Amino acid sequence: MPEDVPENCEVCGDAMDANHNANCALCGRIFHLTWDTRLPIRDCGRFDIDEESLALYFTCNDCVAKRPQAAPGPA
Ligand SMILES: [Zn+2]
Ligand SMILES: [Zn+2]
Repeated sequence: MPEDVPENCEVCGDAMDANHNANCALCGRIFHLTWDTRLPIRDCGRFDIDEESLALYFTCNDCVAKRPQAAPGPA
C-alpha cells in the first residue's frame, strides 16, 4: 500500500472506512468519501472534474469552505 490510511478521518475525526476515503488535492488530508450515495457513510468532502485537464480530484469540506469558487452553484 503506497498510501497510509489513517485510523480516523482527518476532517471530522471519526473512524475511517478503509474502502471509502479520498485524499484532498489541496491540503493532502485523507477524509471520508464514498461513491455510492446509497451507503450510509458520511462524506467529508467532494469530488470534482478539473475543466482543463478533465482529471478527477477530491476536495475536503474544509478546503471547499475556504475556496468558494470550488463549489459552484448555490450553497
Ligand atoms: Zn470524516
Ligand atoms: Zn483539504
